[in-house]
Amino acid sequence: MKMITQHTGFIPGPVNVGVIRDGNRVVLVDTGLDDQSAKRILAAVKEAGCEITGILNTHAHADHYGGNDRIRKNAKELKFIYAPAIEEAIIRHPIMEPVYLFGANPIAELKGKFLMGKSSPAQPLPAPVIPFGDMEIKVVPLPGHSINQVGYTCDQVFFCADTVFPKAIVEKYGLLYCFDVKAQIKTLHSLKNLPPYRMVVPCHARPRQNISLLLEENLQHIDEIMGSVLGMLSVPKSAETLTRQLGEEKGIPLKSIWQFHLHLNTVKAYLAALLKDGLASVFLEKGSLVWVRK
Ligand SMILES: [Zn+2]
Repeated sequence: MKMITQHTGFIPGPVNVGVIRDGNRVVLVDTGLDDQSAKRILAAVKEAGCEITGILNTHAHADHYGGNDRIRKNAKELKFIYAPAIEEAIIRHPIMEPVYLFGANPIAELKGKFLMGKSSPAQPLPAPVIPFGDMEIKVVPLPGHSINQVGYTCDQVFFCADTVFPKAIVEKYGLLYCFDVKAQIKTLHSLKNLPPYRMVVPCHARPRQNISLLLEENLQHIDEIMGSVLGMLSVPKSAETLTRQLGEEKGIPLKSIWQFHLHLNTVKAYLAALLKDGLASVFLEKGSLVWVRK
């Protein structure tokens, strides 16, 4: 557990887990992917002589809530698991992520641990401000990456969830997962004028005082993908064909069925944004759903 201020810190890992501390009581921001992540978190909190009394999830992607179950069963002082509306329902019913990615009773390939964590009894966030000891934990809406993602601020530290990814991840995956591109653009712009936090803690990048460069890089990534998608739509095609073409052009790894579905959904998010802006249209051609540039 690395402390940033007296009351805030994080447990580094594949997903940085936020820590908000009041005396020996700790509230976690997210819990990592699975039982292994939970064990690591439980050990770190124990080593610091603390007890976990609450979990605040940022969104319902398995790598952010998959540790909830194990922590709930081990943390005897746990009083609450809160998550934003809708995300909280998916955390209670994790089958919903494979369901929305597949659109019907999902095939086994979409039910692995990266898309479906163990269920835990998350409740909707009760208010935009959560009191904790003498402190206030403020909820910051950050929709776009997922339907209703939020971040949390406390004691001059901002836990900003999956709003920004570092360049290394953008280059590795070629396409950042997105549920709603227009909402994501709006969220990224809204973070340009942050108050002077002591530290901003993204889940998948090292914490830093200033995320301006990350915001620019992530906005640029969206702009590039939007441009590529629009260019490819000069010839009408299905979302599946577009996903394959974009994969070839950007070197996006499409090696597994579940990875393909994540990318296909992101491509659909771009198509929906172009449709909304009047730059593309969608129609049925001989029984196929095709998209074309306007
Ligand atoms: Zn995520």
